[in-house]
Amino acid sequence: MDKNAFLEKVREGAELIKMHIELGHTIRIVSHRDADGITAGAILAKALAREGADFHLSIVKQLGEDTLKELAEEKQKIYVFSDLGSGSIKLIENYLKDASVVIADHHPPEDGEIEQENHILVNPTQFGADSVRDLSGSGVAYFIARAINERNKDLSYLALVGAVGDMQEIDGQFHGMNLDIVEDAKELDLIELRKELRLFGRETRTLAQMLAYASNPELPGITGDLRNAIEFLRSKGFDPDMKYWQLREEEKRKLHDALVIHLIKNNASKEDIDRLIGDVVLIKLYPEGDPRHEAREFATLLNATGRLNMGTLGVAICLGDEKAFKDALKLVDEYKREQIEMRRYLIQNWSNAVEKEHAYIFYAGKNIKDTMVGIAATMAINAQLAKPEKPVIVLADSEEDGLVKGSARTTKKGIEKGYDLGEALRKAAEILGGEGGGHAIAAGIRIPKDKIDEFAELIDKLLEEQNSSGGTDEN
Ligand code: C5P
Ligand code: C5P
Ligand code: C5P
Ligand code: C5P
Ligand code: ZN
Repeated sequence: MDKNAFLEKVREGAELIKMHIELGHTIRIVSHRDADGITAGAILAKALAREGADFHLSIVKQLGEDTLKELAEEKQKIYVFSDLGSGSIKLIENYLKDASVVIADHHPPEDGEIEQENHILVNPTQFGADSVRDLSGSGVAYFIARAINERNKDLSYLALVGAVGDMQEIDGQFHGMNLDIVEDAKELDLIELRKELRLFGRETRTLAQMLAYASNPELPGITGDLRNAIEFLRSKGFDPDMKYWQLREEEKRKLHDALVIHLIKNNASKEDIDRLIGDVVLIKLYPEGDPRHEAREFATLLNATGRLNMGTLGVAICLGDEKAFKDALKLVDEYKREQIEMRRYLIQNWSNAVEKEHAYIFYAGKNIKDTMVGIAATMAINAQLAKPEKPVIVLADSEEDGLVKGSARTTKKGIEKGYDLGEALRKAAEILGGEGGGHAIAAGIRIPKDKIDEFAELIDKLLEEQNSSGGTDEN
């Protein structure tokens, strides 16, 4: 990607914000409610507080017309959107024409061009970056914060928590401008980047739980079976009640070897073997055993707050609020428990999935929460219910009456076949009445419930078109 051109855009965004700070205006921040959005919001809030600026922050599920109408009614002089906005450019241009706007986002823009002079889109995908691996929303917010004041380099670790929350290092390593953030964080001795086991639970779960609940990747014969996990660990000479962080370095290496051999023996894919052990971010501000010490556990804590509409609690955690942290700990346990139950439900009911030529469509009704369908789609792939090259779309009844929320996920193999889920869901929503969009590899949609059958036909057709025009494999 063209880093310098991107950083020039970053400077433009930072200058516009600074101008409004000098004018004494309230900076209105609106950020997305997942870990990436929450850390992005926290980075901006912290940076603004340090400049002595007034700001007002909200964490929202999506940026639809209703939200924009409400924001317009506030009549603020400047709005800053983070980890969202690129999919709502037309709406922003329309409702916020009289205000300054900075969109700090990494979603591929697919909704027209910025036309107004006082609106700035800071988005690395416009400079050649891959939206799901080179930089996340919190990364964009970080570069803006750093351009406002060099001192904000000490927020770099939060940007890495957001990147991990968005699974930017899903193949086992950081890429693109995420690496520049790693460098900043190392330079200030804020983090350590280690090659370790990339499963959830380094700090707070026992080894037995860490393996039994492994979902990304799964461990064949161990995931979903605590007894097998305990037996596996004992047979290799480990105490299943120890935590990963408590292991000595040579013990960690021995565990890595045992797990890799286990995957090879079970014919795991090369991708799964490669990403089992890889980049793990350790945050030195927090002690070993604290979920905030490791980026994946930190991000999960934030995701747990966001999906209950408590994203500002997540922001408080990022700003070092200990009470917010303690309150959120309870939420994580419930969130992880739900994921385990959901995996069981998916396995038991997968035979109800509609398998089309180019996608699986699984409608879960009220059995899966609409905030969990993305994780469910990823799980269906990792649990090998779905073939990795065929996109999975899980739908569930939405919080809003009469609507269903769907999440689509695919893998590198799906991308190689030419699929672009963000584009496909945006088009499907346009045709069926609803809203959809996102990245090529991960996207979301909301449509009327009575359109599910129509959606299944339509999405198969849209993916078919992408496959025949863009795929790199010829069969
Ligand atoms: O896919 P998406 O980012 O929405 O997933 C949200 C979060 O859920 C991930 O960042 C990850 O922490 C968690 N997750 C998980 N197990 C999976 C998939 C996602 O814990 N199989
Ligand atoms: O909302 P946003 O961009 O922040 O989230 C990105 C989404 O893409 C997350 O749900 C993340 O888990 C998902 N993702 C994925 N596969 C990847 C990279 C990201 O499913 N390889
Ligand atoms: O020093 P400064 O005014 O920036 O910090 C105020 C508060 O912000 C500190 O009490 C600390 O809890 C929090 N902080 C943080 N992360 C940093 C620096 C400070 O959460 N990197
Ligand atoms: O909602 P879900 O987690 O499935 O979204 C996957 C990705 O698609 C996220 O990055 C999300 O921000 C994005 N998305 C979007 N526009 C929508 C729905 C989801 O950009 N209407
Ligand atoms: Zn994001």
